[in-house]
Amino acid sequence: MEPFAEVLNVGNELLSGIVVNTNASWICRKLTLLGFEVKRITVVGDHINDIASALRESLARNPRLIVVTGGLGPTFDDVTREAVAEALGRRLVLNGEALEMVKEKCLELGLEFTESRSRMAMIPERAIPLFNPAGIAPGFYIKLGETTIFVLPGVPREVKSIFEKVIEPIIMASAPMRGYAEAFVYVEGVTESTGAPIIESIMKRDPRVYIKSHPRGWEEVSKIIYHVISYGEDRNMAEESVENAVRELMKRLAEKGAKIVRRTSCKEFSDETIRFS
Ligand code: ATP
Ligand code: MG
Repeated sequence: MEPFAEVLNVGNELLSGIVVNTNASWICRKLTLLGFEVKRITVVGDHINDIASALRESLARNPRLIVVTGGLGPTFDDVTREAVAEALGRRLVLNGEALEMVKEKCLELGLEFTESRSRMAMIPERAIPLFNPAGIAPGFYIKLGETTIFVLPGVPREVKSIFEKVIEPIIMASAPMRGYAEAFVYVEGVTESTGAPIIESIMKRDPRVYIKSHPRGWEEVSKIIYHVISYGEDRNMAEESVENAVRELMKRLAEKGAKIVRRTSCKEFSDETIRFS
């Protein structure tokens, strides 16, 4: 089975609609670019039982990675560390390395090292702390057979910082990764239904290719963005699949009268292409 990943976001504010779950989309985009297929995002409130059961269910599906965010802070409603320990049947212990991280951060920020702050150094037994470059609460990770669970705080700035500076290097140094490639094709003047049989036949011809059409307005002229992706054993194979598919797609859409406005190359991962809604 191909390596896949799951994301588990914790927080009542996500369920009440107060906060938009940007951690999920940001992490999914990162994992996808790293070659993982993200199969599921789960969101639960700040309740030990809900977090623990969501984690156990996720583990039962045997993903290569589970990324958990939220609820690692010092307040009473931050219960993720207890829930992870509970789900794994492990005790929470004061981790010396994590304690040093918290102490050093307090010193650096001129904050008093208090009892409630020391709680942030409590992590499940045999978990390894993850340095938080942008905040006080360390994250941690746990290896369980084929699965690695990464647990991060909820503040998006901290999530991004820990993920890019600490987690990505760990992921890249571990299992051999699949290659991922993608390109976007912006067209005008054809409808989605005209394009539908074309993308279907391209995907049939090369099963590694997946093409998704995103309609983007039809007031004056119909506009569609096609997102072409492929996974391969390595990046070059994935790029080759995407390039062939893009060429075929543009040719066949043009035959139907489409104007190709722009296409991105497999080599570029601009922010512009991340969220185009
Ligand atoms: P803290 O040390 O700040 O308490 P924490 O690990 O306990 O960190 P949370 O309390 O779950 O994290 O979240 C802190 C803040 O981060 C929330 O108030 C919210 O604004 C933001 N946040 C949490 N989860 C997400 C998410 N999934 N997407 C976007 N923002 C989030
Ligand atoms: Mg909190």
